[in-house]
Amino acid sequence: MEKRTFENLGCTTSLLGFGAMRLPLTQNGKIDEEQATLMLDTALDAGVNYLDTAYPYHNGESEPFIGKYLKKKDRKSLYLATKLPQWLVNSLEDAKRLFNEQLLRLDTPYFDFYLIHSIDKKAFDKMVELGVVAYLETLQKEGKIKHLGFSFHSIYEDFAYIANFRPWDFCQIQYNYLDTEDQAGDKGYALSEKLGIPLIVMEPIKGGSLANLAPELASKLQILDRTASSASFALRWVASHPNVKVILSGMSNLKQVEDNLKTFEPFVPLQDNEWQVLKEIHDIMLSRLGNGCTGCKYCMPCPFGVDIPGNFALWNKYRMFQDFESVKKSWENPEVQSTRPPVCTECGQCLPLCPQHINIPEDLKKVQMELSHPR
Ligand code: SF4
Ligand code: SF4
Repeated sequence: MEKRTFENLGCTTSLLGFGAMRLPLTQNGKIDEEQATLMLDTALDAGVNYLDTAYPYHNGESEPFIGKYLKKKDRKSLYLATKLPQWLVNSLEDAKRLFNEQLLRLDTPYFDFYLIHSIDKKAFDKMVELGVVAYLETLQKEGKIKHLGFSFHSIYEDFAYIANFRPWDFCQIQYNYLDTEDQAGDKGYALSEKLGIPLIVMEPIKGGSLANLAPELASKLQILDRTASSASFALRWVASHPNVKVILSGMSNLKQVEDNLKTFEPFVPLQDNEWQVLKEIHDIMLSRLGNGCTGCKYCMPCPFGVDIPGNFALWNKYRMFQDFESVKKSWENPEVQSTRPPVCTECGQCLPLCPQHINIPEDLKKVQMELSHPR
């Protein structure tokens, strides 16, 4: 198993980390503990030593399951990461209560890696104002948190603000060969290197999407190596960035665990022709986008309740992957139909707010047309 060293922290982790957010489920929707245990055992036996969970994963069941699993293992031989659900924190007392609940759920006296979960600038400022960041720093001095970081899904400008705010031990971003200009992206990667903040990467396969490319794109990878999966190319792309120390894969079955392990035993950096083909696939997929919405939310809230970036994200995903199944469940979710394009009155309030100069009402009509009549 390929290992990477956090030079600033003096610890060495497996490059492949086990993400406990998409564990196998039983028929009643609970974690299939037998299967999940087999998957974890397989990964750990192969040298994986980084486990990542979070308060909300599996409706709160991921942390207790991992806690139970860890009782059978040598705790000191593993790095355990979990995250503060900042959206549930409205006072310092909330943060204290949640942190202590997490220690109990995971049945551990300390966390190796602790992250403020999914922050943007607004959420981060709130954590600072409430004294939560200072509280986490105190916990670190007490040894209850070994390394402090944050996870991030917002825009680059927010990433730069938070990354520069204090000397973070590490941070966790979404990064893959398709998202180079999205979220933190290539610019965020470069900034993390400049600031000396090691990276943990999530969504290296973009939620599994890059494992299921359209046939004409998958065949480009098959020409490079008929025995390698599309997912393995996506993982190698991320792993070929030296400031990436852990790549989290949210594995859902044993086959995925075995395929991911194969990619890192041994890890082979991408060759020049492989970089080129992945760039070609990236360019083709991006050329299919409906618009250039970055998800910045500057246009929000819409006075009539339209989820503008949410609708554009689904539209762009559908067009990039040319696969309605990948968005069907979200698009047809009855609970969010009041946020869909037909609710738009074309009032125009959002138009001057979009830095990408997107004609939002017009594009919303296209979203409705294409997703209501998928090809
Ligand atoms: S134009 Fe449509 S999407 Fe934009 S603010 Fe008005 S109702 Fe909302
Ligand atoms: S439509 Fe424009 S303002 Fe709204 S989220 Fe997308 S890029 Fe940002």
